[in-house]
Amino acid sequence: MRAARKENSQGASKKSVYQEAMETFHRAAEVVGLHPRVRLELEEPDFEHIFYVTADIRDRLVPLEQEEEERFKDLPASSVKASEALEPLANGNFLLHRRALLQADITMREGVIRIPKRGLFRLERGGPRKFKAYRIQHNQVRGPYKGGIRYHRDVSLDLFKTLAAEMTWKTAIADIPFGGAKGGIRIDPFAYSREEIEHLTLRYVYKFKNFMGPYLDIPAPDVGTNGEIMAIMMRQYTDGEREKHSLKGVVTGKDVRIGGSEGRLRATGQGVVYSLEEWARERGAPLAGARVLLQGFGNVGSSAAEILAGLGAKIVAVNDVNGTIHNDSGIDVPKLIAYVHENRENLRRSVSGFPGAAAISKSDFWLLDADILIPAALGGEIDGNVAEVLKVKVVAEGANGPTTLDGDRILSARKIELIPDIICNAGGVTVSYYEWLQNQRVEHWSEGEVNSRLERAIKSNYAIIRDIAADRPQKTPIHDSRRFCVGRKLDMRTAAMVLALKRIEAHYLLEGFSQ
Ligand code: NAD
Repeated sequence: MRAARKENSQGASKKSVYQEAMETFHRAAEVVGLHPRVRLELEEPDFEHIFYVTADIRDRLVPLEQEEEERFKDLPASSVKASEALEPLANGNFLLHRRALLQADITMREGVIRIPKRGLFRLERGGPRKFKAYRIQHNQVRGPYKGGIRYHRDVSLDLFKTLAAEMTWKTAIADIPFGGAKGGIRIDPFAYSREEIEHLTLRYVYKFKNFMGPYLDIPAPDVGTNGEIMAIMMRQYTDGEREKHSLKGVVTGKDVRIGGSEGRLRATGQGVVYSLEEWARERGAPLAGARVLLQGFGNVGSSAAEILAGLGAKIVAVNDVNGTIHNDSGIDVPKLIAYVHENRENLRRSVSGFPGAAAISKSDFWLLDADILIPAALGGEIDGNVAEVLKVKVVAEGANGPTTLDGDRILSARKIELIPDIICNAGGVTVSYYEWLQNQRVEHWSEGEVNSRLERAIKSNYAIIRDIAADRPQKTPIHDSRRFCVGRKLDMRTAAMVLALKRIEAHYLLEGFSQ
Protein backbone atom coordinates (compact mmCIF):
# COMPACT_ATOMS: atom_id res chain seq x y z
CA MET A 1 0.00 0.00 0.00
CA ARG A 2 1.38 3.39 -0.92
CA ALA A 3 1.09 6.29 1.47
CA ALA A 4 -1.79 8.68 0.70
CA ARG A 5 -0.91 11.61 -1.53
CA LYS A 6 -1.08 15.12 -0.16
CA GLU A 7 -3.16 17.78 -1.89
CA ASN A 8 -1.49 21.13 -2.42
CA SER A 9 -3.31 24.47 -2.27
CA GLN A 10 -4.21 24.34 -5.97
CA GLY A 11 -5.90 21.01 -5.39
CA ALA A 12 -3.46 19.12 -7.65
CA SER A 13 -1.89 16.09 -6.02
CA LYS A 14 1.73 16.67 -5.05
CA LYS A 15 3.94 14.03 -3.51
CA SER A 16 6.00 14.80 -0.44
CA VAL A 17 9.77 14.30 -0.54
CA TYR A 18 9.29 11.14 1.50
CA GLN A 19 6.62 9.72 -0.78
CA GLU A 20 8.81 10.44 -3.82
CA ALA A 21 11.80 8.79 -2.20
CA MET A 22 9.76 5.73 -1.22
CA GLU A 23 8.71 5.11 -4.85
CA THR A 24 11.92 3.13 -5.39
CA PHE A 25 11.21 1.14 -2.23
CA HIS A 26 7.72 0.21 -3.42
CA ARG A 27 8.96 -0.64 -6.92
CA ALA A 28 11.69 -2.91 -5.57
CA ALA A 29 9.30 -4.43 -3.00
CA GLU A 30 7.05 -5.52 -5.90
CA VAL A 31 10.04 -6.90 -7.81
CA VAL A 32 11.26 -9.07 -4.92
CA GLY A 33 7.75 -9.93 -3.68
CA LEU A 34 8.64 -8.51 -0.28
CA HIS A 35 6.81 -10.16 2.63
CA PRO A 36 3.77 -7.91 3.30
CA ARG A 37 4.51 -7.52 6.99
CA VAL A 38 8.14 -6.62 6.28
CA ARG A 39 6.87 -4.03 3.84
CA LEU A 40 4.67 -2.52 6.54
CA GLU A 41 7.59 -2.51 9.00
CA LEU A 42 9.78 -0.59 6.53
CA GLU A 43 7.17 1.77 5.09
CA GLU A 44 7.31 4.16 8.06
CA PRO A 45 10.06 4.80 10.65
CA ASP A 46 10.21 2.95 13.97
CA PHE A 47 10.32 6.26 15.88
CA GLU A 48 9.94 9.95 15.00
CA HIS A 49 11.46 12.06 17.76
CA ILE A 50 10.70 15.78 17.54
CA PHE A 51 11.85 17.94 20.43
CA TYR A 52 13.10 21.43 21.19
CA VAL A 53 16.47 22.72 22.31
CA THR A 54 17.06 26.13 23.84
CA ALA A 55 20.20 28.23 24.23
CA ASP A 56 21.18 31.73 25.28
CA ILE A 57 22.08 33.71 22.20
CA ARG A 58 24.47 36.67 22.45
CA ASP A 59 23.78 40.22 21.30
CA ARG A 60 24.80 40.73 17.67
CA LEU A 61 25.52 43.55 15.29
CA VAL A 62 23.55 43.23 12.06
CA PRO A 63 24.47 45.36 9.00
CA LEU A 64 22.04 48.25 8.61
CA GLU A 65 19.64 48.15 5.65
CA GLN A 66 20.94 50.37 2.84
CA GLU A 67 17.85 52.59 2.80
CA GLU A 68 18.40 53.42 6.50
CA GLU A 69 22.05 54.43 6.12
CA GLU A 70 21.23 58.02 5.07
CA ARG A 71 19.61 58.75 8.47
CA PHE A 72 22.79 57.80 10.28
CA LYS A 73 25.38 59.34 7.97
CA ASP A 74 26.47 61.83 10.68
CA LEU A 75 26.81 59.13 13.38
CA PRO A 76 30.38 59.27 14.74
CA ALA A 77 32.43 56.06 14.68
CA SER A 78 32.71 54.14 17.94
CA SER A 79 36.07 52.88 19.02
CA VAL A 80 35.83 49.20 19.92
CA LYS A 81 38.73 46.79 20.30
CA ALA A 82 37.44 44.85 17.32
CA SER A 83 39.85 41.96 17.38
CA GLU A 84 38.75 40.81 20.83
CA ALA A 85 35.26 42.14 20.99
CA LEU A 86 33.60 41.53 17.67
CA GLU A 87 33.36 37.96 16.50
CA PRO A 88 32.56 37.71 12.77
CA LEU A 89 29.82 35.27 11.77
CA ALA A 90 29.67 33.65 8.34
CA ASN A 91 26.45 35.50 7.47
CA GLY A 92 28.09 38.96 7.80
CA ASN A 93 26.85 39.71 11.33
CA PHE A 94 29.10 40.17 14.38
CA LEU A 95 28.71 38.83 17.88
CA LEU A 96 29.20 41.53 20.45
CA HIS A 97 31.11 40.26 23.46
CA ARG A 98 30.47 42.26 26.61
CA ARG A 99 34.20 42.84 27.08
CA ALA A 100 33.94 45.01 23.96
CA LEU A 101 32.48 47.70 26.17
CA LEU A 102 35.57 47.89 28.39
CA GLN A 103 37.71 50.88 27.40
CA ALA A 104 35.43 51.51 24.44
CA ASP A 105 34.12 54.86 23.34
CA ILE A 106 30.66 54.09 22.00
CA THR A 107 28.17 56.41 20.34
CA MET A 108 24.86 54.68 19.75
CA ARG A 109 21.69 56.22 18.33
CA GLU A 110 18.41 54.28 18.11
CA GLY A 111 20.42 51.09 18.58
CA VAL A 112 22.77 51.86 15.65
CA ILE A 113 26.56 52.18 15.86
CA ARG A 114 29.31 52.79 13.34
CA ILE A 115 32.33 50.48 13.44
CA PRO A 116 35.45 51.93 11.77
CA LYS A 117 36.23 50.28 8.39
CA ARG A 118 33.15 48.05 8.67
CA GLY A 119 30.17 50.42 8.48
CA LEU A 120 26.83 50.87 10.24
CA PHE A 121 25.24 48.13 12.34
CA ARG A 122 22.07 47.70 14.35
CA LEU A 123 22.38 46.05 17.75
CA GLU A 124 20.06 43.06 18.03
CA ARG A 125 19.44 41.91 21.56
CA GLY A 126 20.29 38.30 22.32
CA GLY A 127 18.49 36.15 24.88
CA PRO A 128 17.10 32.65 25.12
CA ARG A 129 15.99 31.06 21.82
CA LYS A 130 14.21 27.83 20.97
CA PHE A 131 15.08 25.56 18.01
CA LYS A 132 13.29 22.53 16.62
CA ALA A 133 15.29 19.30 16.79
CA TYR A 134 14.72 15.89 15.25
CA ARG A 135 15.93 12.32 15.33
CA ILE A 136 14.17 9.83 13.11
CA GLN A 137 14.99 6.19 13.81
CA HIS A 138 13.85 4.30 10.76
CA ASN A 139 14.83 0.68 11.31
CA GLN A 140 17.13 -1.40 13.52
CA VAL A 141 16.55 -4.98 12.48
CA ARG A 142 20.16 -5.29 11.21
CA GLY A 143 21.81 -3.39 14.09
CA PRO A 144 21.86 -0.07 16.00
CA TYR A 145 20.29 2.97 14.34
CA LYS A 146 22.98 4.84 12.41
CA GLY A 147 22.95 8.16 10.58
CA GLY A 148 24.10 11.74 10.37
CA ILE A 149 23.22 14.91 12.24
CA ARG A 150 22.32 17.83 9.98
CA TYR A 151 22.24 21.49 11.03
CA HIS A 152 20.41 23.37 8.29
CA ARG A 153 17.61 25.91 8.00
CA ASP A 154 15.54 23.85 5.52
CA VAL A 155 15.20 20.58 7.43
CA SER A 156 11.80 19.04 8.15
CA LEU A 157 10.22 15.85 9.46
CA ASP A 158 9.60 14.74 5.90
CA LEU A 159 13.24 15.27 4.89
CA PHE A 160 14.63 13.47 7.95
CA LYS A 161 12.24 10.54 7.38
CA THR A 162 13.59 10.30 3.83
CA LEU A 163 17.22 10.48 4.90
CA ALA A 164 16.71 8.01 7.77
CA ALA A 165 15.12 5.44 5.43
CA GLU A 166 18.01 5.92 3.00
CA MET A 167 20.41 5.04 5.82
CA THR A 168 18.54 1.75 6.36
CA TRP A 169 18.99 0.89 2.68
CA LYS A 170 22.60 2.10 2.64
CA THR A 171 23.80 0.15 5.68
CA ALA A 172 22.19 -2.98 4.19
CA ILE A 173 23.87 -2.40 0.82
CA ALA A 174 27.22 -1.77 2.50
CA ASP A 175 26.52 -4.98 4.44
CA ILE A 176 27.38 -3.46 7.80
CA PRO A 177 25.45 -4.41 10.95
CA PHE A 178 23.58 -1.13 11.45
CA GLY A 179 20.10 0.22 10.81
CA GLY A 180 19.06 3.68 9.66
CA ALA A 181 18.47 7.05 11.35
CA LYS A 182 18.93 10.76 10.70
CA GLY A 183 18.39 13.93 12.68
CA GLY A 184 19.54 17.40 13.49
CA ILE A 185 18.47 20.93 14.26
CA ARG A 186 16.55 23.44 12.20
CA ILE A 187 19.10 26.28 12.25
CA ASP A 188 21.26 28.29 9.89
CA PRO A 189 24.69 27.39 11.29
CA PHE A 190 26.28 30.35 9.46
CA ALA A 191 24.27 32.73 11.65
CA TYR A 192 25.63 31.42 14.99
CA SER A 193 29.00 31.31 16.71
CA ARG A 194 30.94 28.16 17.59
CA GLU A 195 30.07 28.69 21.23
CA GLU A 196 26.33 28.99 20.50
CA ILE A 197 26.41 25.89 18.30
CA GLU A 198 28.27 24.05 21.06
CA HIS A 199 25.58 24.96 23.58
CA LEU A 200 22.81 23.76 21.25
CA THR A 201 24.68 20.51 20.60
CA LEU A 202 25.09 19.90 24.33
CA ARG A 203 21.38 20.50 24.80
CA TYR A 204 20.52 18.16 21.93
CA VAL A 205 22.45 15.31 23.55
CA TYR A 206 21.15 16.18 27.03
CA LYS A 207 17.59 15.69 25.74
CA PHE A 208 18.26 12.69 23.51
CA LYS A 209 20.70 10.78 25.72
CA ASN A 210 18.33 7.99 26.66
CA PHE A 211 17.70 7.13 23.02
CA MET A 212 21.31 6.98 21.84
CA GLY A 213 24.31 4.78 22.61
CA PRO A 214 26.96 2.60 20.91
CA TYR A 215 24.44 -0.28 20.65
CA LEU A 216 21.32 1.86 20.24
CA ASP A 217 21.72 4.91 17.98
CA ILE A 218 25.03 6.24 16.65
CA PRO A 219 25.15 9.75 15.11
CA ALA A 220 27.77 10.96 12.60
CA PRO A 221 28.47 14.26 10.80
CA ASP A 222 26.31 15.44 7.91
CA VAL A 223 25.63 18.83 6.29
CA GLY A 224 26.47 21.66 8.72
CA THR A 225 28.18 19.41 11.30
CA ASN A 226 31.70 17.95 11.58
CA GLY A 227 34.15 16.09 13.80
CA GLU A 228 34.16 18.96 16.28
CA ILE A 229 30.41 18.58 16.83
CA MET A 230 30.86 14.81 17.22
CA ALA A 231 33.49 15.43 19.93
CA ILE A 232 31.04 17.66 21.81
CA MET A 233 28.32 15.00 21.50
CA MET A 234 30.66 12.28 22.77
CA ARG A 235 31.75 14.40 25.73
CA GLN A 236 28.17 15.22 26.71
CA TYR A 237 27.06 11.59 26.35
CA THR A 238 29.95 10.14 28.37
CA ASP A 239 30.30 12.89 31.00
CA GLY A 240 30.00 11.46 34.48
CA GLU A 241 29.78 7.86 33.24
CA ARG A 242 31.92 5.41 35.17
CA GLU A 243 33.21 3.54 32.11
CA LYS A 244 33.18 6.41 29.68
CA HIS A 245 36.02 5.02 27.54
CA SER A 246 33.89 2.05 26.60
CA LEU A 247 31.31 4.44 25.15
CA LYS A 248 33.45 6.10 22.45
CA GLY A 249 31.46 4.32 19.76
CA VAL A 250 28.41 6.45 20.57
CA VAL A 251 29.33 8.75 17.65
CA THR A 252 31.49 8.28 14.58
CA GLY A 253 33.30 10.80 12.40
CA LYS A 254 35.41 11.88 15.39
CA ASP A 255 38.87 13.38 15.04
CA VAL A 256 41.48 10.57 14.80
CA ARG A 257 43.20 11.91 17.91
CA ILE A 258 40.14 11.08 20.06
CA GLY A 259 39.10 7.72 18.65
CA GLY A 260 38.18 8.56 15.07
CA SER A 261 39.31 6.35 12.21
CA GLU A 262 42.07 7.10 9.78
CA GLY A 263 40.48 7.75 6.41
CA ARG A 264 37.01 8.68 7.79
CA LEU A 265 37.25 12.33 6.77
CA ARG A 266 37.69 11.46 3.11
CA ALA A 267 35.77 8.17 3.16
CA THR A 268 32.60 9.32 1.42
CA GLY A 269 34.55 10.98 -1.40
CA GLN A 270 36.83 7.93 -1.56
CA GLY A 271 33.77 5.65 -1.89
CA VAL A 272 32.44 7.82 -4.74
CA VAL A 273 35.78 7.34 -6.52
CA TYR A 274 35.85 3.56 -5.93
CA SER A 275 32.37 3.33 -7.49
CA LEU A 276 33.54 5.43 -10.44
CA GLU A 277 36.65 3.25 -10.85
CA GLU A 278 34.40 0.20 -11.23
CA TRP A 279 32.16 2.07 -13.67
CA ALA A 280 35.20 3.15 -15.73
CA ARG A 281 36.81 -0.30 -15.61
CA GLU A 282 33.69 -1.89 -17.12
CA ARG A 283 33.84 0.57 -19.99
CA GLY A 284 37.59 0.19 -20.46
CA ALA A 285 37.83 3.99 -20.10
CA PRO A 286 40.37 5.17 -17.52
CA LEU A 287 39.50 7.94 -15.07
CA ALA A 288 42.75 9.70 -16.02
CA GLY A 289 41.78 12.49 -18.38
CA ALA A 290 38.03 12.19 -17.62
CA ARG A 291 36.23 15.55 -17.38
CA VAL A 292 34.28 16.06 -14.16
CA LEU A 293 31.56 18.50 -13.08
CA LEU A 294 31.16 18.81 -9.34
CA GLN A 295 28.33 20.31 -7.33
CA GLY A 296 29.23 21.00 -3.69
CA PHE A 297 32.74 21.50 -2.35
CA GLY A 298 32.21 20.49 1.25
CA ASN A 299 33.44 17.28 2.84
CA VAL A 300 32.24 14.91 0.10
CA GLY A 301 32.85 17.14 -2.93
CA SER A 302 36.33 18.33 -2.00
CA SER A 303 37.56 14.83 -1.04
CA ALA A 304 36.21 13.29 -4.25
CA ALA A 305 37.80 16.12 -6.26
CA GLU A 306 41.17 15.71 -4.55
CA ILE A 307 41.27 11.94 -5.10
CA LEU A 308 40.04 12.17 -8.71
CA ALA A 309 42.55 14.92 -9.54
CA GLY A 310 45.25 12.65 -8.05
CA LEU A 311 44.17 9.97 -10.55
CA GLY A 312 44.56 12.42 -13.42
CA ALA A 313 40.90 13.43 -13.90
CA LYS A 314 40.10 17.06 -14.72
CA ILE A 315 37.65 18.95 -12.53
CA VAL A 316 36.38 21.47 -15.07
CA ALA A 317 33.68 23.24 -13.01
CA VAL A 318 32.46 23.45 -9.42
CA ASN A 319 29.12 24.84 -8.28
CA ASP A 320 28.25 25.61 -4.66
CA VAL A 321 25.58 27.57 -2.84
CA ASN A 322 27.37 30.88 -3.48
CA GLY A 323 28.50 30.54 -7.08
CA THR A 324 30.03 28.50 -9.89
CA ILE A 325 33.61 28.42 -11.21
CA HIS A 326 34.88 27.02 -14.51
CA ASN A 327 38.29 26.27 -16.01
CA ASP A 328 38.19 24.13 -19.13
CA SER A 329 41.76 22.92 -18.77
CA GLY A 330 41.10 21.71 -15.21
CA ILE A 331 40.86 23.48 -11.84
CA ASP A 332 43.92 23.21 -9.56
CA VAL A 333 42.22 21.21 -6.79
CA PRO A 334 44.86 21.56 -4.01
CA LYS A 335 44.77 25.35 -4.55
CA LEU A 336 40.97 25.34 -4.47
CA ILE A 337 41.00 23.34 -1.22
CA ALA A 338 43.41 25.86 0.30
CA TYR A 339 41.17 28.72 -0.91
CA VAL A 340 37.96 27.17 0.48
CA HIS A 341 38.95 25.14 3.54
CA GLU A 342 42.27 26.55 4.79
CA ASN A 343 41.45 30.23 4.43
CA ARG A 344 40.12 32.04 7.51
CA GLU A 345 38.93 34.95 5.35
CA ASN A 346 36.58 32.64 3.41
CA LEU A 347 33.93 32.48 6.13
CA ARG A 348 31.32 30.78 3.92
CA ARG A 349 33.84 28.21 2.66
CA SER A 350 32.79 28.94 -0.90
CA VAL A 351 34.52 28.36 -4.23
CA SER A 352 33.16 31.73 -5.37
CA GLY A 353 35.93 34.23 -6.22
CA PHE A 354 38.64 31.53 -6.69
CA PRO A 355 41.32 33.24 -8.78
CA GLY A 356 42.23 30.13 -10.83
CA ALA A 357 38.90 29.92 -12.69
CA ALA A 358 36.18 32.06 -14.29
CA ALA A 359 32.77 32.69 -12.76
CA ILE A 360 29.83 31.23 -14.72
CA SER A 361 26.11 30.93 -14.02
CA LYS A 362 24.54 27.82 -12.46
CA SER A 363 22.43 27.28 -15.59
CA ASP A 364 25.60 27.23 -17.74
CA PHE A 365 27.20 24.76 -15.32
CA TRP A 366 24.66 22.04 -16.19
CA LEU A 367 25.30 22.61 -19.92
CA LEU A 368 29.06 21.94 -19.83
CA ASP A 369 30.54 19.05 -21.79
CA ALA A 370 31.98 16.43 -19.43
CA ASP A 371 32.11 12.69 -18.74
CA ILE A 372 31.10 12.63 -15.09
CA LEU A 373 28.76 14.72 -12.93
CA ILE A 374 29.10 14.36 -9.17
CA PRO A 375 26.29 16.04 -7.25
CA ALA A 376 27.70 16.41 -3.72
CA ALA A 377 25.49 19.16 -2.27
CA LEU A 378 21.84 18.81 -1.29
CA GLY A 379 18.86 16.80 -2.50
CA GLY A 380 16.55 17.43 -5.48
CA GLU A 381 19.09 19.33 -7.62
CA ILE A 382 18.86 17.15 -10.76
CA ASP A 383 15.24 17.61 -11.71
CA GLY A 384 13.62 17.00 -15.09
CA ASN A 385 14.87 20.30 -16.52
CA VAL A 386 18.48 19.68 -15.52
CA ALA A 387 18.39 16.02 -16.66
CA GLU A 388 17.13 17.21 -20.05
CA VAL A 389 20.22 19.37 -20.74
CA LEU A 390 23.08 17.41 -19.15
CA LYS A 391 25.88 16.33 -21.50
CA VAL A 392 27.62 13.82 -19.23
CA LYS A 393 27.92 10.02 -19.48
CA VAL A 394 27.35 9.20 -15.83
CA VAL A 395 25.91 10.81 -12.71
CA ALA A 396 27.65 9.57 -9.55
CA GLU A 397 25.43 10.56 -6.62
CA GLY A 398 27.72 11.78 -3.83
CA ALA A 399 24.80 13.64 -2.18
CA ASN A 400 21.75 11.95 -0.72
CA GLY A 401 18.74 12.08 -3.05
CA PRO A 402 20.13 14.59 -5.59
CA THR A 403 17.95 13.29 -8.46
CA THR A 404 14.16 13.70 -8.52
CA LEU A 405 11.80 11.07 -9.99
CA ASP A 406 11.46 13.17 -13.16
CA GLY A 407 15.23 13.55 -13.30
CA ASP A 408 15.64 9.77 -13.00
CA ARG A 409 13.16 9.09 -15.78
CA ILE A 410 14.81 11.54 -18.16
CA LEU A 411 18.38 10.41 -17.40
CA SER A 412 17.37 6.85 -18.17
CA ALA A 413 15.54 7.85 -21.40
CA ARG A 414 18.65 9.77 -22.47
CA LYS A 415 20.87 6.75 -21.64
CA ILE A 416 22.88 8.71 -19.07
CA GLU A 417 24.11 6.18 -16.54
CA LEU A 418 23.58 6.50 -12.81
CA ILE A 419 25.47 5.32 -9.75
CA PRO A 420 22.77 5.62 -7.05
CA ASP A 421 23.48 7.39 -3.75
CA ILE A 422 22.88 4.34 -1.57
CA ILE A 423 25.99 2.66 -2.99
CA CYS A 424 27.91 5.69 -4.33
CA ASN A 425 28.13 7.59 -1.03
CA ALA A 426 28.17 4.55 1.29
CA GLY A 427 31.92 5.02 1.94
CA GLY A 428 31.24 7.37 4.87
CA VAL A 429 29.02 5.01 6.81
CA THR A 430 31.25 2.04 5.98
CA VAL A 431 34.29 3.70 7.53
CA SER A 432 32.03 4.86 10.39
CA TYR A 433 31.48 1.15 11.02
CA TYR A 434 35.27 0.58 10.96
CA GLU A 435 35.63 3.44 13.46
CA TRP A 436 32.97 1.88 15.71
CA LEU A 437 34.71 -1.53 15.45
CA GLN A 438 38.08 0.01 16.36
CA ASN A 439 36.46 1.77 19.35
CA GLN A 440 34.80 -1.42 20.58
CA ARG A 441 38.04 -3.43 20.15
CA VAL A 442 40.32 -0.61 21.35
CA GLU A 443 42.32 -0.80 18.13
CA HIS A 444 43.77 1.69 15.68
CA TRP A 445 44.00 0.75 12.00
CA SER A 446 46.25 2.42 9.44
CA GLU A 447 44.76 4.45 6.58
CA GLY A 448 45.99 1.80 4.13
CA GLU A 449 44.14 -0.92 6.03
CA VAL A 450 40.95 1.17 6.20
CA ASN A 451 41.06 2.01 2.49
CA SER A 452 41.77 -1.51 1.31
CA ARG A 453 38.77 -2.80 3.32
CA LEU A 454 36.64 0.06 1.98
CA GLU A 455 37.69 -0.59 -1.60
CA ARG A 456 36.77 -4.28 -1.30
CA ALA A 457 33.43 -3.45 0.32
CA ILE A 458 32.34 -0.79 -2.19
CA LYS A 459 33.56 -2.65 -5.26
CA SER A 460 32.04 -6.02 -4.32
CA ASN A 461 28.64 -4.52 -3.41
CA TYR A 462 28.74 -2.36 -6.54
CA ALA A 463 29.43 -5.50 -8.59
CA ILE A 464 26.44 -7.27 -7.00
CA ILE A 465 24.19 -4.30 -7.89
CA ARG A 466 25.44 -4.28 -11.50
CA ASP A 467 24.75 -8.00 -11.72
CA ILE A 468 21.22 -7.54 -10.36
CA ALA A 469 20.68 -4.73 -12.94
CA ALA A 470 22.00 -6.87 -15.80
CA ASP A 471 20.36 -10.06 -14.47
CA ARG A 472 23.75 -11.79 -14.44
CA PRO A 473 23.89 -14.12 -11.41
CA GLN A 474 27.50 -15.14 -10.80
CA LYS A 475 30.16 -15.85 -8.19
CA THR A 476 33.66 -14.41 -8.54
CA PRO A 477 36.51 -14.22 -6.02
CA ILE A 478 35.24 -10.78 -4.91
CA HIS A 479 31.45 -11.14 -5.01
CA ASP A 480 28.46 -13.46 -5.24
CA SER A 481 25.27 -12.10 -6.81
CA ARG A 482 23.43 -15.41 -7.27
CA ARG A 483 21.08 -14.95 -4.31
CA PHE A 484 20.05 -11.45 -5.33
CA CYS A 485 19.26 -11.47 -9.08
CA VAL A 486 15.52 -11.51 -9.81
CA GLY A 487 15.27 -13.05 -13.28
CA ARG A 488 14.95 -9.80 -15.22
CA LYS A 489 16.94 -6.66 -15.93
CA LEU A 490 16.43 -3.59 -13.73
CA ASP A 491 17.64 0.01 -13.60
CA MET A 492 20.55 0.62 -11.20
CA ARG A 493 18.46 2.40 -8.56
CA THR A 494 15.91 -0.41 -8.34
CA ALA A 495 18.73 -2.98 -8.40
CA ALA A 496 20.43 -1.30 -5.42
CA MET A 497 17.13 -1.29 -3.52
CA VAL A 498 16.57 -4.98 -4.34
CA LEU A 499 19.91 -5.79 -2.70
CA ALA A 500 18.98 -3.73 0.39
CA LEU A 501 15.51 -5.28 0.73
CA LYS A 502 16.73 -8.86 0.32
CA ARG A 503 19.35 -8.36 3.03
CA ILE A 504 16.86 -6.70 5.39
CA GLU A 505 14.06 -9.18 4.73
CA ALA A 506 16.34 -12.10 5.62
CA HIS A 507 16.42 -10.86 9.23
CA TYR A 508 12.63 -10.78 9.53
CA LEU A 509 12.21 -14.12 7.79
CA LEU A 510 14.92 -15.94 9.75
CA GLU A 511 14.39 -14.30 13.14
CA GLY A 512 10.60 -13.94 12.89
CA PHE A 513 8.53 -11.20 14.52
CA SER A 514 8.12 -10.76 18.24
CA GLN A 515 4.38 -10.50 18.83
P1 NAD B 1 29.04 20.02 3.55
O1 NAD B 1 28.18 20.85 4.41
O2 NAD B 1 30.45 19.77 3.94
O3 NAD B 1 29.06 20.66 2.06
C1 NAD B 1 27.90 20.95 1.36
C2 NAD B 1 28.29 21.64 0.06
O4 NAD B 1 27.10 21.81 -0.73
C3 NAD B 1 28.89 23.03 0.22
O5 NAD B 1 29.92 23.21 -0.72
C4 NAD B 1 27.71 23.97 -0.11
O6 NAD B 1 28.11 25.23 -0.61
C5 NAD B 1 27.02 23.16 -1.19
N1 NAD B 1 25.61 23.54 -1.36
C6 NAD B 1 24.65 23.67 -0.40
N2 NAD B 1 23.49 24.07 -0.96
C7 NAD B 1 23.72 24.17 -2.29
C8 NAD B 1 22.92 24.56 -3.40
N3 NAD B 1 21.66 24.91 -3.25
N4 NAD B 1 23.49 24.57 -4.63
C9 NAD B 1 24.78 24.23 -4.80
N5 NAD B 1 25.59 23.85 -3.78
C10 NAD B 1 25.06 23.83 -2.56
O7 NAD B 1 28.25 18.65 3.34
P2 NAD B 1 28.85 17.20 2.99
O8 NAD B 1 29.13 16.48 4.25
O9 NAD B 1 29.90 17.32 1.95
O10 NAD B 1 27.54 16.50 2.37
C11 NAD B 1 27.15 16.74 1.02
C12 NAD B 1 26.08 15.72 0.64
O11 NAD B 1 26.60 14.39 0.79
C13 NAD B 1 24.81 15.75 1.48
O12 NAD B 1 23.71 15.40 0.66
C14 NAD B 1 25.04 14.67 2.51
O13 NAD B 1 23.83 14.16 3.05
C15 NAD B 1 25.75 13.64 1.66
N6 NAD B 1 26.57 12.69 2.40
C16 NAD B 1 27.57 13.11 3.23
C17 NAD B 1 28.35 12.17 3.89
C18 NAD B 1 29.52 12.58 4.76
O14 NAD B 1 30.24 11.67 5.21
N7 NAD B 1 29.78 13.86 4.99
C19 NAD B 1 28.07 10.80 3.73
C20 NAD B 1 27.06 10.41 2.86
C21 NAD B 1 26.31 11.37 2.20
